[in-house]
Amino acid sequence: MFQENRQVDALVVGGGIAGMQAALDLADQGYQVALVEKEASIGGKMIALSKVFPTLDCCSCITTPKMSAVAHHENIQLFTYCEVQSIAENPNGYSVQVTQKPRYVNIDKCTGCRLCEFDCPIDLPNLFDMNLGARRAIGVPFSTAVPQKAVLDIENCILCGKCEKVCPVEGCIDFSQTAQTFTLNAQAIVLATGFELTPTNAKKEYGAGELLNVVDALTVERLLAPTGPYGHVLRPSDGKEPESIAYVQCAGSRDKTLGVEYCSRICCMYAIKQAMLLAGALPLADITIYYMDIRTFGKGYEQFYQNARAMGIEFVKGKVARVHEDESQNPVVRVELIDDGSKVVERPHDMVVLSVGMVPGYDPRPIFKVPIAADDRFIAIPEPNLAPCVTNRPGIFATGTAVGPMDIVDCIVMAGAAAAETAAYLQNGQSLSRKLRVSRKVGEKELVHA
Ligand SMILES: Cc1cc2nc3c(=O)[nH]c(=O)nc-3n(C[C@H](O)[C@H](O)[C@H](O)COP(=O)(O)OP(=O)(O)OC[C@H]3O[C@@H](n4cnc5c(N)ncnc54)[C@H](O)[C@@H]3O)c2cc1C
Repeated sequence: MFQENRQVDALVVGGGIAGMQAALDLADQGYQVALVEKEASIGGKMIALSKVFPTLDCCSCITTPKMSAVAHHENIQLFTYCEVQSIAENPNGYSVQVTQKPRYVNIDKCTGCRLCEFDCPIDLPNLFDMNLGARRAIGVPFSTAVPQKAVLDIENCILCGKCEKVCPVEGCIDFSQTAQTFTLNAQAIVLATGFELTPTNAKKEYGAGELLNVVDALTVERLLAPTGPYGHVLRPSDGKEPESIAYVQCAGSRDKTLGVEYCSRICCMYAIKQAMLLAGALPLADITIYYMDIRTFGKGYEQFYQNARAMGIEFVKGKVARVHEDESQNPVVRVELIDDGSKVVERPHDMVVLSVGMVPGYDPRPIFKVPIAADDRFIAIPEPNLAPCVTNRPGIFATGTAVGPMDIVDCIVMAGAAAAETAAYLQNGQSLSRKLRVSRKVGEKELVHA
């Protein structure tokens, strides 16, 4: 299936928005790029979002064309459902062992018709919809997945053979597939392995995992998305439209007890965005945001916040101590009101959303031998001000939220920077910012000696 020893200029690891943009920027300059993504589709977290702050653009509408551009670019080879197993230095860069996990579907034959999915008798929680909706044991991972190819979940398959019978392409479903390893030779590597959310149930006192109507913000993204599980915003316990929704800010960031002492930067903005979208979807609902500080760091972000206040979203400065449930499964928030003499009150809501933070999605140390920062455990960048994408290992660059919490705009900008650094390295064997620093030093020397 795979040609051994493929040669590319650059390997991008991770197909979220940062990895896709870095791959496209390199490919547009004529470099040969391989993009390796561990999931069955590219798109990362962004493809699961409803709309994006601060423009409120439909997220699928802006992400899907990028995904498609990556898949169809003549200079990009896309490897989904693949993982890097090891890398070894060679005179031309790195020899990279990649494992293709078995899809049990022949990717060259699958047409994405989804007949296998429609006939499969097994219903499972839909991971893409944060387990709210259902999926089948075989199927295309989600409606806008790239590639539009089915994948079979062998762990949950009962081997009834219905998918094989209904599939119109001979030999497409292949229960005998095994993992295959192949080699990619790349001169440079860009790590764009992204982030994960702080576990929703990390703060036991907020009840997530036990109280059905306490959910995390990514779940609300799916509830609000046009491609979401219900087409409406309904609360999980009884399918009722919530009339009162509360956000608990810093529910996974700025918290020593979780080992996440940093600010995740995006949570204030996504909570404000979701509050506005909920106000549109549920015009009669009361929406409250319990916060410690509101951090609106980007262009147009403060105005976005002020617009939310003007829309009637309630902002309450207070630290939430805990969330428990009343007899109607309504979550009750116990909060200290900082602007009201530190009074402690309990307020019931229909649904509580935890604004969870960002933690690293991948540890690059075992395979890429790239260190992580001691304070936040994201990829360590020796000179973050001058060379924000350059790791301490020659030819290995990092971008997007693999380096630290950031929003989509910053991911795009940083992906461009990583592509520029990589292109300079491919041309000259050293990164652009290192060259600039060296020439600046030479310039300084010349000045001193002049
Ligand atoms: C609830 C919520 C709402 C948000 N709303 C907004 C918003 O409105 N506006 C905004 O600007 N930002 C928003 N964000 C932030 C935005 O989602 C991120 O900034 C962006 O998606 C990060 O992209 P990324 O490519 O760095 O990481 P990711 O999206 O995490 O992509 C990383 C990719 O790498 C893959 N990967 C990981 N490890 C490996 C490996 N070892 N091998 C191969 N592949 C690997 C992953 O599967 C994934 O596809 C929101 C975030 C959340 C949680």
